[in-house]
Amino acid sequence: MNKIGQNLQFIKQRIATVAQQCQHDPKTITLVAVSKTKPVADIEQAIMAGQFDFGENYVQEGLEKINYFTAHWPQYPLIWHFIGPLQSNKSRLVAEYFDWVHTIDRQKIAERLSRQRPVEKAPLNVLIQINISEETSKSGIKPSQMMTLAEQISVLPHLTLRGLMAIPSAERDTIKQRLVFEKMKLLFQQLKATYPLVDTLSMGMSNDMTSAIQCGSTLVRIGSAIFGARDYSN
Ligand SMILES: *Cc1c(COP(=O)(O)O)cnc(C)c1O
Repeated sequence: MNKIGQNLQFIKQRIATVAQQCQHDPKTITLVAVSKTKPVADIEQAIMAGQFDFGENYVQEGLEKINYFTAHWPQYPLIWHFIGPLQSNKSRLVAEYFDWVHTIDRQKIAERLSRQRPVEKAPLNVLIQINISEETSKSGIKPSQMMTLAEQISVLPHLTLRGLMAIPSAERDTIKQRLVFEKMKLLFQQLKATYPLVDTLSMGMSNDMTSAIQCGSTLVRIGSAIFGARDYSN
């Protein structure tokens, strides 16, 4: 098996082990392979290893890849997650091509995506991004704004609110990692209590995946641990 396939197998094993240790069903945890900056050849290797969910941060780059796979590999039911910051002027392309958006942080962008979602497609799955470390520089809303934005999204006909996403500030100490993820878990439970379709808590990357799963993550976004280090830091 190729290196990317081996990495995927290792990550899946790790997810299963951690999930079982805390009585979570591993099948309820989705692995999204973050392929930003990586060539389609790398994504093909991941597909050969059975990986179908991919995350992209940049609209143009993501689109090129989606078009490539639609043309060359139409038999694979790939699922594309937009996980980068979204500018209003790029929302149409995201609404037309992606299946999920993890970074909803304002009513205006949600309304645009709903309006621009092609009617023949299933509703776009969206997550509200929470600025859980409350850093001024990071995107995402404050926890106190969650219920208001959720209500605004819930009335939009071509979006389905599926849950929450967070990118905590990098932290090596696992106890501190878990303190932040526990806050996300509480918000997720609060949201679920009002919106029964909510089932997705997107948190955990290569360096904090274990803590995230221990705190109830249902979707981890893994880049470098699958595809290797990226050429430039993002
Ligand atoms: C790049 C990125 C990831 C993957 O990060 P790794 O540390 O390479 O696993 C996950 N989520 C988001 C939002 C990203 O931008």
